[in-house]
Amino acid sequence: ISDSYEKNKESDAIILPHHEQGETETKYCNVSYTQLIADSITVSNKLTNSGLVKGDVVSIVAINGYSILSTFFGVTFGKFIAAPLNSTYTVEEFKFYLEDMGAKLVFIQSGLKAAVDAANELGIKVWELKELPNYETHKMTYSLDGQVIGNDQSVTSIPLESQPQENDVALFLHTSGTTSKPKGVPLRHKNIAVSSSNIATTFHLSPQHRSMVVMPLFHVHGLIGVTMSTFFAGGSLVVPLRFSASTFWSDVKQFNVNWYSAVPTIHQILLSMEKNETASPHKGLLHFIRSCSSSLAPTLFESLENCFGCPVVESYGMTEACHQMSSNLLPIDGKRIPGSVGKGTNVQVGTANDNGDLLKQGEVGEICIKGDNVFDGYHNNPTATAENFTKDGWFLTGDIGSIDEDGFITLKGRKKEIINRGGEKISPLEVDNVLLENESIAEAVCFGVPDTKYGEEIWAAVIPKPSCPELTEEDVKKFLATKIVGFKIPKKIFVTQHFPKTSTGKIQRRNISSYFLNLK
Ligand code: ATP
Ligand code: MG
Repeated sequence: ISDSYEKNKESDAIILPHHEQGETETKYCNVSYTQLIADSITVSNKLTNSGLVKGDVVSIVAINGYSILSTFFGVTFGKFIAAPLNSTYTVEEFKFYLEDMGAKLVFIQSGLKAAVDAANELGIKVWELKELPNYETHKMTYSLDGQVIGNDQSVTSIPLESQPQENDVALFLHTSGTTSKPKGVPLRHKNIAVSSSNIATTFHLSPQHRSMVVMPLFHVHGLIGVTMSTFFAGGSLVVPLRFSASTFWSDVKQFNVNWYSAVPTIHQILLSMEKNETASPHKGLLHFIRSCSSSLAPTLFESLENCFGCPVVESYGMTEACHQMSSNLLPIDGKRIPGSVGKGTNVQVGTANDNGDLLKQGEVGEICIKGDNVFDGYHNNPTATAENFTKDGWFLTGDIGSIDEDGFITLKGRKKEIINRGGEKISPLEVDNVLLENESIAEAVCFGVPDTKYGEEIWAAVIPKPSCPELTEEDVKKFLATKIVGFKIPKKIFVTQHFPKTSTGKIQRRNISSYFLNLK
């Protein structure tokens, strides 16, 4: 970051669009690298003066915007540990996370009452964050604990003494909780620097790159995959309050955005807004689209490339690896293989058996990795740490897959989600992808449910495309019968308009299974 700052001082680091209903012209504020660094140092000094000490955890509860980014840097510059949290949590959820992390202080955007209640109940100090945009001057300031933070021009470089060491913990996140209770993941400055550099290298990011932030900034995808990789390369971000399909393309055009990264759900929403996918007015506006955090169906990959006229590049990431572990490549560098999550990006990748021994190339097993982006253990959870590292120091991802002779990884699903139907192992991901080959289906998810005869049975839920409201369970079963072996065909298929997802748009098979069992 200090390198990017020295080279790009007066360039925009962040653009903050503001959409008011009924207004055609979008208002905005912009923040240069100089302001971002100056404001972050102000925050870091304020924390030091308040008596916090190195390694204290400072949580941040805010929606996407300037204050979450500037306070994130402020906390880490001060050698404290930043712990951004989802602003929509309930009081109970906030209590769980704040307590689990041992937060000493929490920054809370004004109006987020549940977070304040939780902090008060736990006796944790709260500093209120309030954004103060001025759309006339395009200047962005905010107040923190009543003090306005905004462009202290006296700061011209990052003081050496505030530069943390590579092994200092910088960031505290939790896994998404897709397969079990979320686990605390401390990430070091080294992990962040290496991961950001890996992503910037994969995508040749440069000061000319400008990304739209559509993922929440409390998650590793938005924070590292998009923000830190961009800042590492000296590029810039457009940060709306949240993803909105209706303002996405006007922002892309107005602010010259040339890429974005998101989960497949967001790509799917953008695609479903197109009147005519073959003649989209948005073709060619972006240089590339990055997809990560959840499986991108080959059919969605193809539709996206055709509709938006740019390469779609799928990467594979997780919280414990500080986001990206592997990625497909941009066309100038080589191959994009639909259905594969690409090759390890500056990490060693392998597959392991249940004993943690490495398997031969091509053999299906648990994907495991080693690299400087990888964390070194869960917070307060020695059992999970021991279970997830092999004796040789490989981190076991919990994902099942194989690696071909060129190093391309194909994921088959999560270890905990593989359905065991009377001894026949079914990858729900494989069946999802077959369902998505049906032109009437927009989204699909398969999951295991308890069954007296087989131990476990496969069920599915599908959301039809808006143009196919007549789709029935029978139609879907008939379609599947032409594509896959009988035992993999879901016994029950719900044709529905909705299924539960995580806050970042990931499908939680665990929750989906209980959701549909209750509906039955
Ligand atoms: P928990 O560990 O609490 O169950 P989680 O694994 O969903 O939650 P994250 O760290 O946010 O938490 O997500 C990492 C996981 O997301 C990976 O292990 C993998 O299963 C999935 N994933 C990420 N990228 C891809 C991808 N491109 N294709 C398929 N799955 C992916
Ligand atoms: Mg996980």
